Amino acid sequence: MVSDFRQIYSLCRLRPAFIFAIAGLWILFATAFDSVAQQNIHHELEVEILHDAKTLRGIDTIHLPEGVSRLRAAFRPGVRILAVEGATHTYRDGVLYLNLETSDPSPKSVVLRYEGVFDDPFEAEPFSMDNPGQGVMGTITQDAAFFLAGSGWYPVILEDTAETFRVSVTAPKGIYAVMEGRLETHADDAEKSLSTWSVSRPSGPLAMFAGRYVVNERMHDKVRIATYFFAANAGLATRYLDAVQRHITRYETLHGPYPFDKFAVVENFFPTGYGFPSYTLLGSRVLRLPFIPDTSLRHEVAHCWWGNGVFVDAAGGNWCEGLTTYVADYLSKEEHSFEEARDYRLRTLENYTLLAAGAQDFPLSTFRSRYNPASQAVGYGKAMFVFHMMRLWIGDKAFWAALRDIYAERLYQRTSWGHFMDAFAERGGLSRDEVRTFHNQWITRPGALQLAMDSLRVVSAADRPQVEGILIQKSPRFNVRVPVEVTAASASRRENVYLDDATATFSIRMQGAPRTVAADPDFDVFRLLYPEEIPATINAVKGSKSLAAVLAEDSPAPWVEIFRGLLMGLNHGDIEIWSESSFAAEDTAGKDILFFGMPKREKGRNLLSALGDQAVLSAGAFQVAEDISNRNADTMFAVFKKNQRLVAMFLPVAGTDVETVLRTARKITHYGRYGLLSFKDGVNTGKGVGEISGSPLVVDLGDNP
Ligand SMILES: [Zn+2]
Repeated sequence: MVSDFRQIYSLCRLRPAFIFAIAGLWILFATAFDSVAQQNIHHELEVEILHDAKTLRGIDTIHLPEGVSRLRAAFRPGVRILAVEGATHTYRDGVLYLNLETSDPSPKSVVLRYEGVFDDPFEAEPFSMDNPGQGVMGTITQDAAFFLAGSGWYPVILEDTAETFRVSVTAPKGIYAVMEGRLETHADDAEKSLSTWSVSRPSGPLAMFAGRYVVNERMHDKVRIATYFFAANAGLATRYLDAVQRHITRYETLHGPYPFDKFAVVENFFPTGYGFPSYTLLGSRVLRLPFIPDTSLRHEVAHCWWGNGVFVDAAGGNWCEGLTTYVADYLSKEEHSFEEARDYRLRTLENYTLLAAGAQDFPLSTFRSRYNPASQAVGYGKAMFVFHMMRLWIGDKAFWAALRDIYAERLYQRTSWGHFMDAFAERGGLSRDEVRTFHNQWITRPGALQLAMDSLRVVSAADRPQVEGILIQKSPRFNVRVPVEVTAASASRRENVYLDDATATFSIRMQGAPRTVAADPDFDVFRLLYPEEIPATINAVKGSKSLAAVLAEDSPAPWVEIFRGLLMGLNHGDIEIWSESSFAAEDTAGKDILFFGMPKREKGRNLLSALGDQAVLSAGAFQVAEDISNRNADTMFAVFKKNQRLVAMFLPVAGTDVETVLRTARKITHYGRYGLLSFKDGVNTGKGVGEISGSPLVVDLGDNP
């Protein structure tokens, strides 16, 4: 049965009501079409984009398999059906019900003519990117057009039948269309441009985008690598073509042959980060960021293997974001250095601890797509850790071999966590029980390990020092291997302690005098961090359970709206903004505080002076780190921790104009892992993370022998 989740990645960042409505119909009517389930419906689809009228006009000639007498096609509600040839029809709620005469059994075709206005509103510079795409399904501008798979821009057949397409898109001269499949032609005449694509193995409903693109391309073996950039960014083409080629080569070595005819990087006119089978759609500003070719782009290329190549069987949870994050975002850190990889794991645990643990948590088996920071922390972060823990358990060789097996055997097939577990068991020599326990504890229930260490002592055994202690876990319990490391002056020793009950004892023999003991020192186990392990960052503000937002007295009038936007970007769009006088009147003990502007009254000023010498703050100046000061900046955002309570401040120094304040406020949400930031004219000039105060899982043994 056709499922929108096959194209999970392209849909995964939206919750389009239209798609779910269609999915429901599929379920209801799938059985009625069994007799032709193995034959193709072929679309010869011609569409024209009329930019002035924000209208798409289409003619779809649908060639039907033998014996088909009834067919339902869904459009975007509001699309007008201009003509139907070859069938009688009714049109209700965006669904066209077609009835073909059955006396002649030979294959038939139906011709549908339709047109619709596509004008979803979009924001060119949203405050938050937690819902990239902003729910926009279809929109046409003067120079571009955007149609997601669920936008109903062509007749989406609701019967469960394989489909193939040949799509010709006509637009004003210089505007080319891009979609999945193989390019047949981009051609121009005096007034118009024509783009023709053939899609022989659609991954689900099709998306399509068009724009006034400069097209650059090259061949990598039989794969066409292309960039579709607007003129202003055309100079970036070589950098992107090089990067795509590099990533494809990397994953061909790691996983197996690239599965599509092309890979295209396509520019969008508002901020998006979508991956589709064989192409990705990135916003203009995103494209210009220097790190994108090695970060987001690599992630999108990796999805061609995982999610768009091997499909997700969403019934047991979407694994593809976790695996793609692991082999792209995470692995790129590991390729640089051990420290970067360790830091990435720590940040992943931080995000979970701050943004998802507790009431917002959910099991991976129910993850479909991200829609807020909590769902991302679980669906991407925790899932990534599941692969990491499995890799440490069975070893590199078995782990990568298992992924190769899955790719070789399950390309274009709906695949579940269970298939991965089987492959890991096979290659890693694990028993059925072991794998079932691993799957149940990490995937079918929520939560993370809560680890503690106790009863540490150093004894002498056979004239050598031996460190003994107990690992403790709270409920819910996990079966885990926890690395415990003892360091001495000249060497360190690490052992995996198997923890499958409330406690486990360990004893580690050393050559020299031991100095420190650390449990999970490199953040290899998916566990809840202690507050002491988490630095004060913007993510910590996003995760605050109780935040007071305080606007400085005598602020310029527009600041309150900018503050509202900043709060939205920080996940707190619904809290009240207090004046300093209401702040003074309220009991705020235990609340985290965010100031917008320099407070003038005593209560706010006292809170700031309690921070001591970590911050020098006044209305006209600031210094929060060596290179984060008003010397090269006009605005600061800083987060501090005082007695496990967050005190944060957005401070435009006196005289900074409103436009700059707004531009800077929009950026804060993107710097989640940082806690100290400075900006000049909206451009970042300094960033850093505050100190952390230590971990209960790292214990100094003092002067023990
Ligand atoms: Zn992804």
